[in-house]
Amino acid sequence: MDFRFTAEEEAFRKEVHDFVDKECPKEIRGGGVNFFEEAGSLMAWRKKVAEKGWVAPAWPKEYGGASMSIMQQFIYSMELAKMRAPASIFVGGLAVAVIGPTIIIYGTEEQKKEHIPPILAGETMWCQGFSEPGSGSDLASLQTRAVRDGDDYVINGQKIWTTLAHMSQYMLLLARTDPDAPKHKGLSYFVVPMDAPGVEVRPLMNMTGSHEFNEVYFEDVRIPASNLIGEENRGWYQAVTTLDIERSNIGSAVGQQQHVEDMAKYASEHKSNGDGGYVVRPSIRFELVDRYVETEVAMALSMRVVTMQAKEMIPNYEAAAVKLYSMELAQRIANTELKMLGLYGPLGRGSKYTQMNGRPMFGYLRSVANTIEGGTSEIQRNIVAQRGLGLPKE
Ligand SMILES: Cc1cc2nc3c(=O)[nH]c(=O)nc-3n(C[C@H](O)[C@H](O)[C@H](O)COP(=O)(O)OP(=O)(O)OC[C@H]3O[C@@H](n4cnc5c(N)ncnc54)[C@H](O)[C@@H]3O)c2cc1C
Repeated sequence: MDFRFTAEEEAFRKEVHDFVDKECPKEIRGGGVNFFEEAGSLMAWRKKVAEKGWVAPAWPKEYGGASMSIMQQFIYSMELAKMRAPASIFVGGLAVAVIGPTIIIYGTEEQKKEHIPPILAGETMWCQGFSEPGSGSDLASLQTRAVRDGDDYVINGQKIWTTLAHMSQYMLLLARTDPDAPKHKGLSYFVVPMDAPGVEVRPLMNMTGSHEFNEVYFEDVRIPASNLIGEENRGWYQAVTTLDIERSNIGSAVGQQQHVEDMAKYASEHKSNGDGGYVVRPSIRFELVDRYVETEVAMALSMRVVTMQAKEMIPNYEAAAVKLYSMELAQRIANTELKMLGLYGPLGRGSKYTQMNGRPMFGYLRSVANTIEGGTSEIQRNIVAQRGLGLPKE
């Protein structure tokens, strides 16, 4: 496959290229960036993207989005990745990827007026309150309760793994409103202000040492009934419609390919410590080739999803296959990189011997979560098994 852009598409690609080249701070370009260490530069970039009107590439213009076609979104993501700029999810976050679209589709006019402009201006951050200690893959079994009491709902329960809850002003909460209904039919969506009395956020550190996610406790948290999004007890169906984040994963595929190319460049330029040869020992040489070929596979799988979307088809097991393959590949790439660097690999930024800006170790540790977040590899395999291969349900 050899994809070529039309003249119009090429002009758009160049516009993205020039914009990134001029405005994106150098310290957050280079892939594998630790966004928790470089939050300031990321915020500066976010402001530039907001001024350009590209914070929400897929949203309709009437809500302040960029109204990009699928092809333009594809070009945009690909060019960001090629320029080693942060993917658009790091600019808009969950607020743009999941929460805004939910409010646009299911929210009232008042809810849209209140929440959409601050999201686009980068003034509010949101977190997603779905997973609970006993409910991750089987999300519909969640137990956090929201009970109607006059003009309010009263919330009690606990969420876990809530990314950036400690920095968010709002949570999009999925809670049980009808405990007697079958599990998928008794859930509802709510907006919860994180400063409401009774909300407690407790940090969870991940193994990179970053404070990325949290536990969130609700004790008799009272929110106005007008904070219900959409219909009561239809939350599951609404959640399913809006859970698709960046299904094509094209940005990640291009980024991975460039990461492998960077590794190959490093390997061909550096001598190993000790025997005087290049770090590219035969075993590493072959691994680098394997990783490169695998990034081509990830690209092809991603292209399939993009072309389906461009034809207005809804990718299903195809999107699960991309997620499964790319996230497991991310771990293999991180593994090869650490092997290549030998004893230098685990060194962080504090050491004078640090290689590749101290990112490999962070990438290695962080990639472990890739096959869990957004649905585990086992769940993706089940989707491909049932819907792609037609195998019976377990
Ligand atoms: C970095 C990170 C960020 C996250 N951010 C958020 C967030 O912001 N908001 C939020 O709500 N959640 C978030 N999560 C939670 C994430 O969605 C869940 O961790 C994930 O869905 C898995 O659920 P679980 O952890 O409860 O594991 P479980 O569902 O308990 O799974 C445990 C193991 O059993 C396997 N398993 C489960 N069911 C099956 C099955 N049917 N067949 C085969 N194997 C199965 C799983 O694959 C896994 O290996 C985040 C997770 C991570 C790692």
